[in-house]
This record gives sequence, structure tokens and C-alpha cells, in this order.
Amino acid sequence: MNKDFTNHLSEKLNELKKMKLYKNERVLTTPQGSHIETADGKKVLNFCSNNYIGFANNNNIKKAAVRGLEKWGFGLSSVRFICGTQSVHKQLEKEIADFTGCDDAILYAACFDANGGVFEPLFDENDAIISDELNHASIIDGIRLAKSKRIRYKHMDMKDLEKGLEEAKDSRFRIICTDGVFSMDGDIAPVDKICALAEKYNALVMVDDSHATGYIGKTGRGTAEYCGVLGKVDIITTTFGKALGGASGGCICAKKEIVEMLRQKSRPYLFSNTLAPAVAAASIEALTLLKNSNGKYSSDLKTKADYFREKMQGLGFDVPNGNTAIIPVMLYHEELAVKIAESLYENGIYVIPFSFPVVPKGKARIRVQLSSEHSMKDIDRLLEAFKKASE
Ligand SMILES: *Cc1c(COP(=O)(O)O)cnc(C)c1O
Repeated sequence: MNKDFTNHLSEKLNELKKMKLYKNERVLTTPQGSHIETADGKKVLNFCSNNYIGFANNNNIKKAAVRGLEKWGFGLSSVRFICGTQSVHKQLEKEIADFTGCDDAILYAACFDANGGVFEPLFDENDAIISDELNHASIIDGIRLAKSKRIRYKHMDMKDLEKGLEEAKDSRFRIICTDGVFSMDGDIAPVDKICALAEKYNALVMVDDSHATGYIGKTGRGTAEYCGVLGKVDIITTTFGKALGGASGGCICAKKEIVEMLRQKSRPYLFSNTLAPAVAAASIEALTLLKNSNGKYSSDLKTKADYFREKMQGLGFDVPNGNTAIIPVMLYHEELAVKIAESLYENGIYVIPFSFPVVPKGKARIRVQLSSEHSMKDIDRLLEAFKKASE
């Protein structure tokens, strides 16, 4: 047993605690939902999950998972290309490709793996990857694994993106990468403008729609639908671990040649176990519910988010306008964000304060995430608690 090393880790962990960067996990004793209970026995209203359309504990989805479990077994104990592909996986790939407006799709254990495995098989030192500076950690890691030229552009800054495209014009291929919805500000990438620039500079476009799939756009198909460019994005990565039921799994949706190459070469796909069949079956049910919902979830969530934003602004809070269910309440000072979140928790409201280094210094905030499962009464309780906390 190496004591030096564990001592070293203890020191590092203490440093994190001193710098207030240490993350504690709150333990839930109920399923995920708008009303949950935590291990300290507290019943709280939950405003910090990615359960945007309430699918995490949806009865139809749970039943589909149970049926999937009975029909296909618990697990595959194999990667896809050995003996880990069942028809339920092929069906989910077809359904998610269709839903996102793409030719084909390939499943991964998580979207983190999808982003980790998307660049390296497709692009090499002859190519350039141009990435929004605020992209998700998994995109950043995925880009690191490729040997391509790396160019970062300022967040959603189309002028700076164009500069990057100029800089990359001698590369063989260029790909622009962006989150569809950014998780800290809840802003939506201008995918229409990005596609137009891609066309001008003969580049590809990759959008990670993890925070968008299921409720952004009229029928929840994501940022491409929202921006009016459904079917025009070359590569869409997304997760089954947020709005689509929140269990696990990710995918890459793209043209058939891209998917075909990924099946041959993408390491997190080739060397990691198949998505559990019950999760695949339940995800198909989630997509079916969405397709049959006529945009009900998107419009309901928008109504609730608009209401909350407007009321908060009325109360004098600094809440930027926006079009997603991620609503940052800007408090700027780190201690204030922590204090208000604590006061809300006392009042039975669960939200998370974010400060540096998760967001820039001096941009501390409480991030509120709404779900279509929240009732108007729940939202009014949240408003009341914010009002009380700020008095
Ligand atoms: C959550 C998230 C991921 C990771 O998805 P998992 O399926 O949980 O691994 C990737 N990208 C973005 C933008 C995300 O928000």
C-alpha cells in the first residue's frame, strides 16, 4: 500500500475543500421527478435535473423498459460487433436517426463516449476542427484525441468563427462543432448561421444536442428544427440520458457513410459494451411518445419557462431572456449564490449555485431547470422562495 500517494490525494482533496470546489452528492430516496425526497428526510421541489419533459419516471416508458427486460434479457455481455447487436438496437438507431432528420445513427454507452469517439476516426492531421470555446467537456476531450488542427472561436461569435474558417481554408476538411443548447446559460447556438458559414467555406457541421433533443424546436427534434435547418447538420450527437428518459446512452446521427466508418473505427463503440436492451426499448418508447405528442411538451415547457422568466424579471432578478428550460438567475457574487441556494433549500426548493471554475469568475448564478412535470403551483412556490430569499 502506497501511503505517500494516498497522503498526496488527501492534501489535494483538502485544497479543493478549502477553495470551495469540492462537490458533495445529495442522495435521493425517491425516483427522479419534480417532487423528490433526499436522504436527510427532506421533501423538496426539484429544479436541477435534466428531466425536461418528465420522462424519467414516465409510466409508459417504465413499462416499455420492463417489457424490454423480459423480452431481451438484462444485458448483452458483448460489444456490438461480436454478439451484442439485437434488433431493438437497430430499431432505436433507425428511430433516433429519423427523429433528428439524419440518414442513420450509431449507439454509444453515453454521449460522452459518442463525442469521444466521433473525431478521431473521421479527421486526421490534414483536417481542422473549429470549436465553440464553451463546448461541453466531452467535445473538448474528443477533439484532443484527433490529430487535426484545433481552432477555438469565441462563444457563438460568427465573426470569430469565420476567422477560424479562413484560418482553416488550406486544410483538407473543416468541421465546426457546437453544443446545440449550452448548459450554463441556456442559450441556443445559431445553427442556421453556422450552416450558412459552413456552406460558404465548404465545412461540415457537428451539433451536440444533449440539452435540446426532446423539447427544443416545435416537435422537440432539437436545435436544427428550432433554427429551421432540420436535415442540414452533418453530424448530431445526443444523449438518452436527459430529456429522453434520463437513463443512459448516447448516439451519433449522420449520413450513412459517416456512421458506417464510425462502426469500423470509433474506439468507444468498438471496445465498450452494448447499451442495455431495456434502455434501448424504453428509449424507443420515449421517441414514440414524442412523435405522437404534436409538440405538446415543447410548447408546454416554453409557456412555463416564459412565465418564470417574466415573473423573476418582475421581482427585480437578473434573468436573461431565452428560449430553453435552462434559466440562469444571475447573482454574480459567489457567496450570494450559495446563500440564496441554501435559503431556497430551507424552503424545500432544490437548486444548485454555480461559480468559478464552472462559470467565469464574477458570473456566479443559480441555474433553474424547469420540467414540463412542474405545475404552475410548483413554479409559483419557486418564485415565492426566491422573493423570500432576497429580502
Ligand atoms: C450531458 C451532456 C453530455 C454527456 O451525455 P451523457 O450521455 O450523460 O454522457 C454530452 N454533451 C453535452 C452537451 C451534454 O450536456
